[in-house]
Amino acid sequence: MSGLVLQKVVKEFGVFRAVNDVNLDVPHGTFVCMLGPSGCGKTTLLRMIAGLDLPTSGAIRLDGEDITRVPTHKRNLGMVFQSLALFPHLTVGENIAYPLRIRKAPKEEQKKRVDELLSMIHLAGYADRPVSKLSGGQRQRVAIARALAISPKLFLLDEPLSALDAKLREAMQVELRQLQQKLGITTIVVTHDQREAMTMADTVVVMNGGEIRQAASPIEIYRRPADSFVADFIGQTNLIEAEADSQGRATVFGQPVAGLPLPPGAARATISIRPEDVHLTAPGAGALNGKVTFVRDLGGTIETFVDVAGRQIVAVSTPRARPEVAVGQPVGVALTPDVCVVLGK
Ligand code: ATP
Repeated sequence: MSGLVLQKVVKEFGVFRAVNDVNLDVPHGTFVCMLGPSGCGKTTLLRMIAGLDLPTSGAIRLDGEDITRVPTHKRNLGMVFQSLALFPHLTVGENIAYPLRIRKAPKEEQKKRVDELLSMIHLAGYADRPVSKLSGGQRQRVAIARALAISPKLFLLDEPLSALDAKLREAMQVELRQLQQKLGITTIVVTHDQREAMTMADTVVVMNGGEIRQAASPIEIYRRPADSFVADFIGQTNLIEAEADSQGRATVFGQPVAGLPLPPGAARATISIRPEDVHLTAPGAGALNGKVTFVRDLGGTIETFVDVAGRQIVAVSTPRARPEVAVGQPVGVALTPDVCVVLGK
């Protein structure tokens, strides 16, 4: 199969298992973001893909070839790490040409490739500038161009944008995605920033405790989270315990909610409902009744916190779509059953 395949990959450091039985298919030309909290094993997984660490067990295949034990320099990879590791005493052009120079590519070919890459990263005409005179975003682009100079089979990036300020970072996310699409290169990015992952990825891989909890498209992850960890980690959500009453009808906090999807025969289930799917109504007109405890007006959106039987539910709406409510006011809370997701764990 064309692309990257991880089969039952395990990494142990002494008795500690940092990566536990990871299976993943990354089809050729796709963009994958590995996302998860600090210490979940994403860098360790990337390092094994890069050949910087050896798996304790399992296999890594690239375009059908078993590369588990192939040294890094023979894997045909482009890599960018947070530190960038540009050579400060060299010019932009010399930095980008470096991997070609050590492969002894002819001078003409080096120059042609550097010019091509410079125009791709919107830095045409910068070849002779010292990298020390570039801005953070420009350095970032040079590091990306250098990694792509050898036309690698696989492009690996570890937190590549985390040193940039928020605005530049968002702009670079779009640039990186557009560049990847143009080149059609299989790309894996490690990030702890879910917005970054949602912006760039075809597939978001959510990890926790060394395991993949879900691997799916950004919208699938958001709309159909596999478990409560994913639901809570990606975006905001309300995790609600639903219980069956004596007649098997779903209830939430002791109040019946018609149409709520409890699995057949289940006594209880955790349900995720996104704040934008919670609608406030007049008291008594929603499935649940509660009292407003806090309103966060962010200008473009308003978050309303409602206490329902001692539990908190958050509703998000745009200012125009929200009924006027004030702290302390009783409200109804409508849950639309078909957007409630019953979670696995
Ligand atoms: P972060 O976002 O903080 O970089 P991460 O998800 O990339 O986190 P890893 O760096 O892969 O996490 O680390 C996973 C776990 O393995 C951590 O608990 C870490 O302490 C441990 N670990 C990583 N490298 C080693 C090592 N060389 N020796 C021992 N333990 C290690």
